[in-house]
This record gives sequence, structure tokens and C-alpha cells, in this order.
Amino acid sequence: MVRYYCPYCNPKYQFQKQSLKGNLICGLCGEDLVKKPFIRLNQIIALVAASSFLLPLIYTFIFLIKNQINTPNKNYQANGILIIIIKEKIS
Ligand SMILES: [Zn+2]
Repeated sequence: MVRYYCPYCNPKYQFQKQSLKGNLICGLCGEDLVKKPFIRLNQIIALVAASSFLLPLIYTFIFLIKNQINTPNKNYQANGILIIIIKEKIS
């Protein structure tokens, strides 16, 4: 669906009119209507900017969660060996 809009008038009060030539014009000022693109360039830029901030954050969260799942076993083993060594030295 392609929407048309007048770049000069308030979008609330716009209404389309067909000129004698057959192309759509603004009912208020009589200016040619402009096609409204489905996705604007501004939206794409905003999306890229937002994702550049959010993606590292999401990545670090995933990395943190992965580390929390994996490392405790290694730590307990290291501590266990250390405790055994200490116990042997004491006795
Ligand atoms: Zn207009």
C-alpha cells in the first residue's frame, strides 16, 4: 500500500484531491502529494544506531550467563585440589 502525503500541511487535516491532470494533489494547498515510503531512511539509521548499542550488551549478557553455567565446576575442582594439598601439608 502506497500512501501519499503533503509535505507542507498538517497531516491531521490533509485530504487528497485529484487534479484535472489526474494526479493526486493536496486538498488544502493544491501541492502535488509525495509518496510515503514504507520504511524511511531515518528509521533504518535509528535501528542501526540502536542495535550498535544493544547488541554488545546482549552479547555480554549471553557471555556472562554462559560463564556462570560453565566455570563453577572448574572452580570447585581447583579449590578441592588446593584443600587436599593444604590438608596433606598440615598432616
Ligand atoms: Zn498541502
